[in-house]
Amino acid sequence: MDCSKVQEAGEYNTKMHPMWQGPLVVPGGDRQSPIDIVVRKSVFDSELKPLLTNYDPRTCQQIWNNGYSFLVEYDDTADKSTLEGGPLQDKFRLCQFHFHWGESNAWGSEHTLDRRLFPAELHLVHWNSNKYSLFEEAVMEENGLAVIGVFLKVGKRHEGLQKLVDALPAIRHKGSVVEFTKFDPACLLPTNTDDYWTYHGSLTTPPLTESVTWIVMKQHIEVSHDQVCEVYEVKYFSHGCYQGF
Ligand SMILES: [Zn+2]
Repeated sequence: MDCSKVQEAGEYNTKMHPMWQGPLVVPGGDRQSPIDIVVRKSVFDSELKPLLTNYDPRTCQQIWNNGYSFLVEYDDTADKSTLEGGPLQDKFRLCQFHFHWGESNAWGSEHTLDRRLFPAELHLVHWNSNKYSLFEEAVMEENGLAVIGVFLKVGKRHEGLQKLVDALPAIRHKGSVVEFTKFDPACLLPTNTDDYWTYHGSLTTPPLTESVTWIVMKQHIEVSHDQVCEVYEVKYFSHGCYQGF
C-alpha cells in the first residue's frame, strides 16, 4: 500500500494546524460508521484541542477471545485510564481495545483513507464517565463513546505489541480468557497523536447506535509479518470472523 499521499497531506495540514476535522463522506447518510475518509474534503477546525490520554497500565486486567476478535479489557470502575481533549467536552474511560484484521495484508481496516484499506485497524474504546455510570448505559446514548482508531501497516516489528502477541496462544480458542496485566495501551498509539480526523459516527456492529465520537489517527503504526502471523493463528480458531465497534 502506498501511503505517501496521506503523509503528504498530513505534512501539508500540519503546516497550517496540527488538527483537522470532517465533514467526511458518510455512505447511506446519517452517521453510520465506518466511513471513507476523503483527505481533500477534510476541514480544518480551530476549535479542536490536543488529545490527552492518561492511561494507567495497572488497570489492564485480561485478554479474551470472543469468537470474533481478541479484546484487552481494562478496569473502568474509576477514572484511572482516561481520554480527554481533542474534540471531546467530557472525560472518557478506557474499557477495552481490539483490532480488526483482514484475511490478507491487503485489507482489514474498517475505515478507509481515500478508498484505501489498511491491513488492520486498532480501536481503543472509551465511554463518557462524566455523563454516564456504565459502559452499557453510555453505548446507547448520544456522546456516549469515544473510539481512537489507529491504522496498522506491515513493516517493522512493534516492540510494544509483542507482549500481546506472546499472550495470544493462550486464547486461541473461542471464549478463552486469560489474565493480562500491566499493558500500557499508549504504546500502541503513533508518536504523533496531534494529527487526526474526527467525526460523529456509530458502532460498526449492531446495535449500530450513533453514539461514537471517532478519532482516527493520521499516523499509522507498523507491525512485523511474524507478528501478524501470530494474530492469524487466533483468527483461525475463531473461524476468521470478527466484529467490534
Ligand atoms: Zn472495532
